[in-house]
Amino acid sequence: MENRNITTKITVCSYDELNEEEKKLIGAAKEATNRSYAPYSRFQVGAAALLAGDIVVSGSNQENAAYPSGTCAERTTLFYANSQYPDRAVKALAIAAQTGGEFIAHPTAPCGACRQVILETEERYKQPMRIYLYGTEEIFVVDSIRSLLPLCFGKNDLPEQAE
Ligand SMILES: [Zn+2]
Repeated sequence: MENRNITTKITVCSYDELNEEEKKLIGAAKEATNRSYAPYSRFQVGAAALLAGDIVVSGSNQENAAYPSGTCAERTTLFYANSQYPDRAVKALAIAAQTGGEFIAHPTAPCGACRQVILETEERYKQPMRIYLYGTEEIFVVDSIRSLLPLCFGKNDLPEQAE
């Protein structure tokens, strides 16, 4: 028997350390929180995706009285991006959240289902997605969903599929 440690790299930075393009993407995610429909959790999440060709699309969480019928901001955004711009890779994704009228101080991370969808998007476009998790006190940045989803299950785990 042996133990194996899995390490992931997360960059922690402040808003001022970001470049203009990164600030713009986070700004789009923050703005999207205002279009959230979250009457149950009152946790308004926004996401913004930067696509190849410098197109930015955003989305927010959309809840439902039948809870599982709602969906998260990340999946709303990526499914919209992938359905509207299927030929454009998603290069980066920013996620922001507010509750009680305040943006959260420390970043929140995507749920498991969204991590899986982000992984699928990375594999679909064969390139990693830089992810920004926004908090007013600190921002987490990862170079790929693989940092948030170690030991992932992806398309390579399945028998080879015809493209
Ligand atoms: Zn989610």
